[in-house]
Order: sequence, then C-alpha cells, then structure tokens
Amino acid sequence: MQVLTGRVPVFQSGLQREQGAPMANDTDGRVRLGGRAITLSRLRENAGEYAAVFSRAKAEIGHAECLCRTPTLRLVIRCSRAGRYHLAGWPGEGERHDAACPFHKLAPGLSGRESYSAEAIREGDTGVAIRLEAVLARSLTEPPTAKASGEQREGRNRRTVGLLGLLHWLWEEAQLTAWHPRWRRRNWWICHARLRQQIEDCSINQNPASTALHIVPPFHPDTAELNTAAFEAFKARLGRHGGKEQRGLILGEIKTVATTQYGSRYALAHQRAPLFASAALDERVRRSYRPVFAAAAAEHDARRVGLFLVELSSKGNLVIVDMAAMLLSRLYIPADSSYEVAMSNALARQDRAFVKPVRYDGTDAVFPDFVLTDVAPHAYVEVYGIRGREAYEQRKSIKQAYYQRQGAPLIEWDVTEPMPDLSRHSRDTTRGSA
Ligand SMILES: [Zn+2]
Repeated sequence: MQVLTGRVPVFQSGLQREQGAPMANDTDGRVRLGGRAITLSRLRENAGEYAAVFSRAKAEIGHAECLCRTPTLRLVIRCSRAGRYHLAGWPGEGERHDAACPFHKLAPGLSGRESYSAEAIREGDTGVAIRLEAVLARSLTEPPTAKASGEQREGRNRRTVGLLGLLHWLWEEAQLTAWHPRWRRRNWWICHARLRQQIEDCSINQNPASTALHIVPPFHPDTAELNTAAFEAFKARLGRHGGKEQRGLILGEIKTVATTQYGSRYALAHQRAPLFASAALDERVRRSYRPVFAAAAAEHDARRVGLFLVELSSKGNLVIVDMAAMLLSRLYIPADSSYEVAMSNALARQDRAFVKPVRYDGTDAVFPDFVLTDVAPHAYVEVYGIRGREAYEQRKSIKQAYYQRQGAPLIEWDVTEPMPDLSRHSRDTTRGSA
C-alpha cells in the first residue's frame, strides 16, 4: 500500500487542485487513522481487522483525519451499538473537503436538512437516529392518534422527518446528490452500496434502519438467492404481529407505473414483486410529484426513484400506504423538472463537478438549482422553465437578488433558448452577476 507521507505540495491543494490535478486515487478517499494513512474502501471492507486501530485512535486522538486537503480535516470516529466502527464528516466542515472527497458537503445553508430540530435527525456517537413522521407499527386496537399540532409546519424546527425528507437525507448523505467526473460512473449497484452503507448505523423510529427499510438490491445471478431470502425476511416482518400491523419501507427505482382496476401497480427495477396503490393515493401522489410522473421526463433519459411505506394485504401483496418520489438524471442526481434532468445530464457530459441541493420536506426553501463545485467560489446554475406562474416568478426574483448580493458566478438557462455553454473554461457562462 502506498502511504502518503509528509505534506502535499502547496500547489496541489486548495484552488490549484480544483483546476484538475488528480488525487492519488481517483475514486477513493484517503484518511489517517491512529497515525496510519489508509484508503476508505480498505477500512470499510476490513472494519473488523481495523477495530483495534479505530478504538485506539478514538481513545488517544479522539478523531481521524481526511487527507483530501492540507492541512488535513478532522473526521468523527463512530462506534455502533453492535461494535462496528466507521468514519463520518466533522459537523459543519463538509464544504472544506475536496469536491470529490466522500466527506464533501455543501454549506449548511444549501440543504433542507437545516429545517429539522435536533430530535428529528439525531447524530450521536453510535450513529444517526431518525424520527419518521409515518407510523411503522399501526395499532390494531387503539384508534389512530391525531397528529400533534405543528408537526406539519414549515420552517425550522420540524420535529419529525417525512418520507420525502428521509429520501432526500439518504440521497444527500450517500453523496448521490453530487457528481464529480473522477467518479466516472454511477449505476444502481453503486447507489445501493452507498445507501446500504449509509443506513448501517442508522435507526428509524427506534428500529434498525437495515430492517425497517428494504433497499432493492441490484439483480445478479450470483446473489439472487441471497437477495430473495432477504426480501422474504423483510416481508415476514410485515403484517400482524403482537396487536400491531407492521409496516415497512421499500426504496427502489421505479420502472413502470400501470393503471389497474383499483388504482395503480408499481414495477420496480431489480424486483419481481410489484407494489399496489389505491386510486385515491395514486391521484394524490401524481399531484404532489407532478414532474416525476410527467411524460416529458422520459424524453430526457430521466430516472425515478420511490420510497414506499407498505403494508402486507391479506393476499400477501405489498400495498402502498404512502410514498415519496424523486425525478433523477441519468446519473441518479435529483432534479425538480425534466429541464433540470436535461441540465444535469449536460453538466455531466461537460465533465463538470456539481451538487443538487435538496429541499427535504420544506417546500418554501429557495436553493440554487445546481451548485458547481469545480470552481472557486462555487458557481450556481438556474434553470428557468415555467413562465407566468406568480409563485414561480417570485422565487426566481428572490434567487436573482440573492445571487446579485453574493456576487456569485451564475449560469442561467431559459429553456425557451438553447442551452448555454457549460464548459468550465467558458468565460461567457460563468460571469459574475454582480
Ligand atoms: Zn476529505
């Protein structure tokens, strides 16, 4: 193993690095743990082997270091209740990491995550505890309790996470809201692996996330039997147990949505068992997630992902009780409209590094459509798609005023015009708006 010693020359760090000098390893982060430099993937694959190093580093130094920058950045050493160690980004330092680093995050103001109180998403030494608004075990004897007032309110201090909030949290934490050309490819296999890693030490309403949430694994003949067994085990936990109707969460890529006599039938990629929704739910979901189900999305190579809260019917079918859905680009980056999908795909084709800020459950938050992370300061991308709607025009002017104040470079695309030049060295398209 190549060990990184000494200091990285100054010209390789900071801004210069962002202009294209490759890191030692194209796709993997390097960290220092208890004085030893090591790749993250090696640590993850051999966590047991490194348990003693982890535990000593936690006791003696108190943290690990990320080597993506000089000087290095601190990392939190977490130990799950099961005694598994892993590393997490230091709170509030995400944006200081290299854009291609697994610990990189946008500034806190660029995420809907900010709208939750500490009890909704609690990060601790042992992992992350999520308080989901949806009930995972419905009582069969007591009537459903009315929602506590204020649970649905917007703004700061939401005390629970909704399904869309959970979906956005998972995507953002697994760094699937970001793209960097050094990563080269992204498919469901990669999404699944990152999401699984993310939920390892996470709980949802006090259940281990890995049992409450089934993330549809990619199909492969070698693992098909194992995956079928895991799915059957997930299904076996659903239904009536101990006076409660047990529900589960399924996360998967939506292949097709077909209308049936009673509502609709969702077919997921890599999964044989379909999910069923009533006509009423289907109607509500199509209204709430209009761009996800719009015909225009198909023209732009878009993907769709759903997070489904399901119950088991008396016939053994998976019935959707509630769901959230996301429109995604070809590389699984979230998008708010089919035009944003087109923009996201075009940015990737131009080898740009970028992040899509996500709103979580907040509908009134105003973020840039995309943030370009391969330039300093970061540049913003705005896609102007819908004209004439008052709320939309209002948001647009709020955003434009914000960029003007920031003096941040801005790329604007009015979809009635051709797409602007998105290449990094095009001066015309990264002009300051001030
Ligand atoms: Zn880093």
